[in-house]
Amino acid sequence: MRKILVVGAGQSGLQLALGLQSKGYEVTLMSNRTADEIRTGRVMSTQCMFDTALQHERDLRINFWEQQAPKIQGLGVSVAAPDATRPIDWLGRLKGYAQSVDQRVKMAGWLDTFAQRGGQLVIHGASVADLDYFSRTYDLTLVAAGKGELVSMFGRDAARSPYDAPQRALAVSYVHGLDPRPEHPDTEAVRCNLVPGVGELFVMPTLTTSGRADILFWEGIPGGPLDAFQGIRSPGEHLALTLDLMEKFTPWEHARATKAELTDEGATLAGRYAPVVRNPIGRLPGGGLVLGVADVVVANDPITGQGSNSAAKCAASYLSSILMHGDKPFDEPWMKATFDKYWFTTGKPVTQWTNAMLGVPPEHVLNLIGAAGQLHPVADRFANGFDNPADFDAYFYDPEDAADYLAEVAASAQPSASSSD
Ligand SMILES: Cc1cc2nc3c(=O)[nH]c(=O)nc-3n(C[C@H](O)[C@H](O)[C@H](O)COP(=O)(O)OP(=O)(O)OC[C@H]3O[C@@H](n4cnc5c(N)ncnc54)[C@H](O)[C@@H]3O)c2cc1C
Repeated sequence: MRKILVVGAGQSGLQLALGLQSKGYEVTLMSNRTADEIRTGRVMSTQCMFDTALQHERDLRINFWEQQAPKIQGLGVSVAAPDATRPIDWLGRLKGYAQSVDQRVKMAGWLDTFAQRGGQLVIHGASVADLDYFSRTYDLTLVAAGKGELVSMFGRDAARSPYDAPQRALAVSYVHGLDPRPEHPDTEAVRCNLVPGVGELFVMPTLTTSGRADILFWEGIPGGPLDAFQGIRSPGEHLALTLDLMEKFTPWEHARATKAELTDEGATLAGRYAPVVRNPIGRLPGGGLVLGVADVVVANDPITGQGSNSAAKCAASYLSSILMHGDKPFDEPWMKATFDKYWFTTGKPVTQWTNAMLGVPPEHVLNLIGAAGQLHPVADRFANGFDNPADFDAYFYDPEDAADYLAEVAASAQPSASSSD
């Protein structure tokens, strides 16, 4: 059977390793951390995944936490005014539920499963020199090492990367004790609180190492008032600052958080990175080729919550390209075609939408977000765009498309004058 080396035990690397293993491939997985180190370490993401991405896990029967994790039925948007009131506040209904399973739980569990199923696990932070040596004995080497140092093997694709600096400062806290949202106490939802000119607060339910919890996730425009987490020394200080900023900019969310406590010592994360698209094929010093996977090749800002979704879609797409290739060599044209298939179906629409959301929203987007408060179909469509960002192409980017769409929905929401005569 064909031998495949996967470097990196995150969403994409583990999903691919488990998928290939289940099809009888001889898979070696290199991880720079053990399952226990991941489980007891720091949170890495907010990892909210929507139905299509979750279905890839169901297809491989690795959806081990589906029954325990909160089922997220809606996605809401609130917009803050300068006086910290909330002129816009609505909830869109998701067609299929979303879920967030703390990557510490999921990756540690999947790593154990891979080893229990007889997979070869190497605990080692791979260097380019390691790959140069090891890759010769494999039919294919996949680099799924996220935003780690191995990305230096993959050149930046300047034409597809409009930003060369981070566009948001990120600050995450996992908490117990958040009250349900009074507007829809029985509906689990992701809430996107937009604070124009300042940043965004995302609040979402998750399953973490200590059970059900909620995540408070600030995305701050660099240099602004939310860009204040550098130099914070303790998790307690990080949460206190998170709550202070909520009180100031999103008091309706702060009102739910008066009893909030961190879930554990590793429950906070702060950082920033520049969104980037890279060339998918890395050339090793000895001439060998490796193929980049998920964040290694397309790393978007988490403002649209797409990275884990894209990682799952990338892993599923690559798995099918590998299976369909049979015994033929995994050469450069195959690598290019494999990446292109992922790029054009997932990477490109996600990158276009995410980069658009990082900028100042144009008037027609503000109109759409405002209209969603009155027109449920608009709210629902926006919410379901998180599952299928390619849908935004039809109505979101072009002012005329947006106006046509709103007119169409408004017309079907009310009987027209002539039909009621
Ligand atoms: C604050 C924040 C919030 C986010 N929220 C969301 C969200 O709500 N929804 C969503 O879909 N996405 C979200 N994302 C993005 C998402 O977490 C990532 O895009 C996704 O995890 C990428 O998966 P991956 O498999 O490419 O890489 P990763 O998950 O980063 O996995 C890479 C793995 O490789 C390991 N590694 C690195 N270097 C080496 C090496 N040299 N040798 C061996 N192993 C190595 C790393 O330790 C890691 O385990 C968020 C990200 C952040 C930072």
